[in-house]
Amino acid sequence: MRGEKSCPNCKRWNNAEEVHCIYCGAELFEKERQVKENLEANPDPFKIPLVKIDSKDGYLLIFGKRMIQLVQIVFFGILSLLLWIASILPG
Ligand SMILES: [Zn+2]
Repeated sequence: MRGEKSCPNCKRWNNAEEVHCIYCGAELFEKERQVKENLEANPDPFKIPLVKIDSKDGYLLIFGKRMIQLVQIVFFGILSLLLWIASILPG
């Protein structure tokens, strides 16, 4: 027995194996799907969103972006260190 799922739109009960509401056609697991998609889009919340270096960028632009990346790495390093200190402190 898989159970039932109430439609987020019309609140009627559907078989949980249905993807769309059989009464109004709304997506039954829209919220679950969005949560899943968000997780897939951001698999690691602590992953550093570094500036992308394009191979078409000019020399100065690449240099500038590398400097930004360095700052980002240092910044996130300090941030994770602070989080780590905060997590080991009592209270
Ligand atoms: Zn419905």
